[in-house]
Amino acid sequence: MPLGFRKTVRDSRNAAPAANKSPRTPSPDSTSVLGEVEELGIGMFWATDSEGNLSFLSQRALADLGADSESLIGKPLTRVFRDVDEEDGGPTQRSLAFKLKARSRLDEQIVAVPTGRGATRWWRLNARPLLDAKGEFRGYRGSAVDISAQYAYETQVARQSQVDELTGLANRRKLGERLSAMLAAFRVSQRSCALMMLDLDRFKQVNDTMGHPAGDELLKQVAQRLSSIVKDHGEVGRLGGDEFQVLLPDMDDRGTLGELANRIVQSLSQPYQINGRRAIIGTSVGIAIAPYDGVEADELTRAADMALYSAKETRGGTFCFFTSELRDAASKTAMLGDRLRDAVDKGELKLAYQPLVDPVTNEVKCFEALLRWHDSEEGDISPAQFIPVAENDDLIIRIGEMALRQACMDALAWPETIRVAVNVSAKQFIRPGYRKAVANALQASGLPPGRLELEITESVFVGDLETVDAIFRDLKKLGVRLALDDFGTGYSSLGYLKHGHFNKIKIDQSFVRGCTENGDINPAIIAAIVALAKALGMETVAEGVEAMDELELVRERGADLVQGYIFSRPITQEQVLAQFAEGSAMFRPSGPPRHRSERITIFRKVGLIHEDHYYDVILRNLSKTGARITGLAGVPVGTDVVLDLGHGQLVVSKVVNATENSQGLKFETPLISDGSGGFMTRHRISPYSLAEAGIPLAALGAGAFPLAKWREANKSIPKFTQLELSMPMH
Ligand code: C2E
Ligand code: MG
Ligand code: MG
Repeated sequence: MPLGFRKTVRDSRNAAPAANKSPRTPSPDSTSVLGEVEELGIGMFWATDSEGNLSFLSQRALADLGADSESLIGKPLTRVFRDVDEEDGGPTQRSLAFKLKARSRLDEQIVAVPTGRGATRWWRLNARPLLDAKGEFRGYRGSAVDISAQYAYETQVARQSQVDELTGLANRRKLGERLSAMLAAFRVSQRSCALMMLDLDRFKQVNDTMGHPAGDELLKQVAQRLSSIVKDHGEVGRLGGDEFQVLLPDMDDRGTLGELANRIVQSLSQPYQINGRRAIIGTSVGIAIAPYDGVEADELTRAADMALYSAKETRGGTFCFFTSELRDAASKTAMLGDRLRDAVDKGELKLAYQPLVDPVTNEVKCFEALLRWHDSEEGDISPAQFIPVAENDDLIIRIGEMALRQACMDALAWPETIRVAVNVSAKQFIRPGYRKAVANALQASGLPPGRLELEITESVFVGDLETVDAIFRDLKKLGVRLALDDFGTGYSSLGYLKHGHFNKIKIDQSFVRGCTENGDINPAIIAAIVALAKALGMETVAEGVEAMDELELVRERGADLVQGYIFSRPITQEQVLAQFAEGSAMFRPSGPPRHRSERITIFRKVGLIHEDHYYDVILRNLSKTGARITGLAGVPVGTDVVLDLGHGQLVVSKVVNATENSQGLKFETPLISDGSGGFMTRHRISPYSLAEAGIPLAALGAGAFPLAKWREANKSIPKFTQLELSMPMH
């Protein structure tokens, strides 16, 4: 639009000192001055018409933008000069459009200018609106300085310090600043804030077997999934490596948080496609909530870390809330490792055998070998506790091979029709020497391969699936049988069943236990798994059957075998042999007629508030809906009380049955699962309300709730008789 361009410039000639000449309509002296100024690198000049369209660009400006920049003339200024993105680390400034509309001056306004070559330059603008004699707006007259080099550098630095380069998420520094700022602000406004710490399970395996570029790609996909779940409920960031963090303001409902964590775990453990290959990883999540678990950033972070560690220890692929018990448990685990190594050296680990029984004939078909460890100080330690510790180093290989050899030897003394099942840790399974170890155990004992069954969990289907596939094929060639253990708890991807590796599926206890309760969906799941297994030619085992009604149900749904306390607990090799010596391969079911809602037996000192008196009581057992306590005498049925489970967990309850010194309580609101087999309240009373009651917030260490202080202040005459508390040993 050359005509308009010339015209506008001429019109505004006298009023725009910085741009009073077009290079195409020069008056010799002013052009040279302009040229000289430009030559010195001081600036470039531009102007708009009264409509806000670019009407003039000086020679140097045209050159700076390259070939086609003349075509910019006549375009709206906001199309030529773009606002820089704050997210990119750009400066905080009002938008150009806003300023133009307000006809205000431009002072050091930084804009992005797309060039004819498809690149971008960054200019710093100064300009003022030009008014004519009548006070009418005639356009802007302005100068510009190209700051591209400096700008690119500065924004990169800014970006690097705020954004994780790989995923585009907030980085460690930004998250740290956000958390500190949020906690400080929330302390004033008495708001809560949850912190989730995530660590991917077996990410290292993917990195090692598929290469670092694949690992990077995986992290990007993880970031996307995470962001799409959290949405605008909170801020997602990457701390580095395979660690992520989620910051959730105004969140203290542990029910909601548990559900969110669960969704994250589920979503991140779905298979990933990376350059045409499939990989599966998992994630563990630790959760801490301010102000309950900490009021300072480092305190809260440490709490979330500890919860994460515990989630990883449990079995990975799960979430865990912080509790102060975790702090103690962490140091215990460290000690456990040393003890375990010692026990292995001394040969203190033994095997027990639990029968897998045909529920129609009651005949035993197989025994599962389960490790037993009796520590002289700690007593019996469950494999669920020490296997993960062993998995932290090579100890698992030694333990695994020992179990394998021993089980094969023991089975040789049983009738020929009876098989033995041995558990295999995923860590052990994917090690190069595993096939050889199995072959050796078979050879050393002389056990026919068809009598050995290896129990593998879904957690082997991680990392590079092709390697895993090859191991399966190798093992099949040996002639051993393979069982998929704890089915339904892990990655729940049915794809790997199709490969036909497995002879048997073991339906996890969590589907079986309590499946007879009204409205439970588990019977349908059991029936579906049985149908699926039959269609694929596999046997099914129902694990963890304890009650008669459960046995009836799984038999009716077609499970081929049943393993559970209903037939027998794990027994010693001597007991197995004694049974066979009597000539019997039968196990008779015996157990409670019906499943009872799970009660966790505990002996823990807790508090009970009645009216304004605080009593010490012992918690004998706890379920979602109620508890049994001892330690008080003469509490009538119907009494309203508040149970203090510690850490601000107050449960409004009613006494529903009572003996002389023990009471059954029913909770007004049921507890929720804590993600690792225990229960907790959905909400806690806030330390803020305690602070209001006169306890300074600073006195509230992480998780420490001095309700005892409250009770000091509330000395009144007790209604009930406080009995002396002695903790029973167990
Ligand atoms: P798993 O392989 O799923 O074994 C079944 C577990 O359920 C055993 O626990 C068994 O005692 C228990 N169980 C069986 N029936 C019932 C029942 O009716 N009610 C209840 N409440 N529990 C029942 P255990 O012996 O504590 O073993 C726990 C886990 O430790 C095993 O789960 C297995 O994953 C692991 N494990 C045990 N021995 C070995 C081993 O030699 N190597 C490896 N890698 N892992 C092992
Ligand atoms: Mg097993
Ligand atoms: Mg199992």
